[in-house]
Amino acid sequence: MRVKTLKDVELRGKRVFIRADLNVPQDETGRIVDDTRIRASVPTIEYCLQQGAAVMVTSHLGRPKEGACTHEDSLAPIAERLSELLGRPVPLIEHWVDGGFTVQPGEVVLLENVRCNVGEKKNDEALARKYAALCDVYVNDAFGTAHRAEASTVGIAHFAPVACAGLLMAAEIEALSRALEHPKRPLVAIVGGAKVSTKLTILKSLAEKVDQLIVGGGIANTFLLATGKRIGKSLAEPELVVEAQAIMDMMAARGSEVPLPVDVVVADEVSAFARANRVPVDEVGPNDRILDVGPKTASRYCDIVAHAGTVVWNGPLGVFEYDQFAGGTKMLASAIAHSEAYSLAGGGDTIAAIKKFGVEKDIDYISTGGGAFLEFLEGKKLPAIAALEARCDG
Ligand code: ADP
Ligand code: MG
Repeated sequence: MRVKTLKDVELRGKRVFIRADLNVPQDETGRIVDDTRIRASVPTIEYCLQQGAAVMVTSHLGRPKEGACTHEDSLAPIAERLSELLGRPVPLIEHWVDGGFTVQPGEVVLLENVRCNVGEKKNDEALARKYAALCDVYVNDAFGTAHRAEASTVGIAHFAPVACAGLLMAAEIEALSRALEHPKRPLVAIVGGAKVSTKLTILKSLAEKVDQLIVGGGIANTFLLATGKRIGKSLAEPELVVEAQAIMDMMAARGSEVPLPVDVVVADEVSAFARANRVPVDEVGPNDRILDVGPKTASRYCDIVAHAGTVVWNGPLGVFEYDQFAGGTKMLASAIAHSEAYSLAGGGDTIAAIKKFGVEKDIDYISTGGGAFLEFLEGKKLPAIAALEARCDG
């Protein structure tokens, strides 16, 4: 994977158009709940300003209706937070597609919600050409949107005089390629979460690459079913036991066994008040729900992590949102944090777990892309990255 990056490009006096991912969660009043994505976008913006570029930044926010932007769709709260983080004014420009606004070298403006523009989502060529006409250099720093082919993520990359990856995008590509394309062995993948069906392609794709595959969460339940275990009322997908078996066979053919839980934490309901019991996996009762792995299982997984060269983690091992079922995920998070392996993690709930257990600083790379991270693990070519690759020499 080869793309031109920001540091390869002359920026002085240039008009630079940065497509960032500033799509942060907000509460009902529009207040920003978590500004991680804005903070992650700051280094690229600051670098361009330091280099003396005239900087335009845009992003999508939420799911507005194209051509009918409302007050809630506005990037105004983002402009305010960005201005605080950069320590300088960040004017918000509305109706910017046809130009008619000015930005001087060393200044930055925020262009209103890019998904309000008609044609953005279907990557309309005329719209992409208009974006491209606004700039000398197009910078894609929106890894979180790299799996969608839109006018501001793909189209503009074809028509702008220069197209390159921003610092965050470059770091994501570098971290993910390092973990999956040139990993230090043994390469261990941990895939947890609720359902096999949402992660089947990822499981298969990883089963072709990794030295050891660990499954957790509801996903492990379907694997337990496949080996003939009784799982009571646990979340599982009986229709996918054949697929689960196929994945175990793929690993077995390469001399690696998928380790399944030997003990589990069960309860009869999923709630904050549920009474949790630790039981050997053979003693799960007909009314039990398996909601976490037990300590013996967790320590076996942790041992594998301790001997890994590279660890890729997506998906919690249990219903970590409730403390009674958080033990397995907490132990795993801590094992990954302490291991000498190069560690890469991603996924909305996985990041929530990492934050809950306070290990974000000890994981080598935490991807900012939810869907994009998962598609990368699936082995898919992300359209926005492909568009940058196509412009590598241009
Ligand atoms: P990510 O967002 O990191 O990709 P997922 O969305 O696939 O992760 O899965 C996270 C969800 O899986 C969490 O809400 C968690 O409560 C749930 N989960 C984990 N283990 C189980 C289980 N044994 N039974 C039911 N749900 C589970
Ligand atoms: Mg999720």
